Amino acid sequence: MPYDLAPGATIGILGGGQLGRMLAVAAAKLGLKTHVYAEKAESPALDVASSRTVAAFEDRETLAAFASSVDLITYEFENIPFHTASFLADLNLTRPSPATLAICQDRLREKEFLASVGAEFASYARVDDAGALARAVAQVGRQSILKTRRSGYDGKGQILLREGADLAVTFCALGGVPAILESIVPFEMEISVVAARGPDSSFAAYDVAENIHENQILKSTRVPARLPPEISAAAIQLTRRIAEALEYSGVLAVEMFVVRNGERRELRVNEIAPRVHNSGHWTLDGAVTSQFEQHVRAIAGWPLGETGRLRTQYGEYWEMKNLIGEDVLLWPEILAERNTHLHLYGKAEIRAGRKMGHFTRIIDPD
Ligand code: ADP
Ligand code: MG
Repeated sequence: MPYDLAPGATIGILGGGQLGRMLAVAAAKLGLKTHVYAEKAESPALDVASSRTVAAFEDRETLAAFASSVDLITYEFENIPFHTASFLADLNLTRPSPATLAICQDRLREKEFLASVGAEFASYARVDDAGALARAVAQVGRQSILKTRRSGYDGKGQILLREGADLAVTFCALGGVPAILESIVPFEMEISVVAARGPDSSFAAYDVAENIHENQILKSTRVPARLPPEISAAAIQLTRRIAEALEYSGVLAVEMFVVRNGERRELRVNEIAPRVHNSGHWTLDGAVTSQFEQHVRAIAGWPLGETGRLRTQYGEYWEMKNLIGEDVLLWPEILAERNTHLHLYGKAEIRAGRKMGHFTRIIDPD
């Protein structure tokens, strides 16, 4: 068989969030089974998996049993402990590789990797203690954000440096953990490229997404981004270079800032997500192949699907809006909208800042 998996095989998914849930549904559509390994019993992906394990990511005995029950392992978020991923990779095929995870889950290593591929990004300095923060401020400037090296998501693990703020207090407020200080990028637009690379080096990208964040959480995405074609092409090329250098298998997203330099527009990479990404949710309804199906195809060693947009031949855009916290209470109204696709993640408890669902629709050109 030329492929690594055949229908009927089982994909192990580490992590039980909404990304895992949508991956499991996409796998089922292709006749594959999934085994979700989540740390909490109330995880959204457990509802739709063929088999489930609820245990800590440090529980080696349970991890080994999980590895032997599946044909391939992937993950739906990058903050899986590295030793968990490498333990599993010794027991079974793991895509993307633990080496990729090690880079993308540590903001410092990620920056060093980005430098090695010639990508541009915000200036930064390493901060291991309060003293280093003072030196970092002297180097990077006050217009900056202190970010934990690890475990950040949806703006968690970040503090904007305020004018006159006490640096020791700021360092402690972030937990006193290893961090980086990053200069604030005066961006014109935030974008992302969601793309897939197969184990045979095949590559396919979706159109560039234009992203709006509120309180450092993605609020909405519009595709294609309103950029000159050469900038969009450059963003996709850069993503390809990153995927190649990582010898990546699966879907990844590269978040970037577009900055103005006089007449020119330039790209600054923000971060790499080694997984399906919130800014790719529009593909569930708006692309020939969804990012979730694409990830399954890529890790299974199957041919990548078409990434073209659906039903937008007259200059319309696909729009995705997140339902964050109490936004989800609007579900009856969204359901009543014509031509709007509602997706709910089945999370019982509404919390401020929690991603509860999203919807997609086509919007007219402005
Ligand atoms: P997370 O892992 O939480 O997504 P990010 O580093 O992507 O962390 O930060 C979340 C958001 O905060 C970004 O999408 C952007 O809107 C804003 N942000 C982060 N870093 C910078 C920066 N250096 N300059 C300007 N905005 C930033
Ligand atoms: Mg981000």
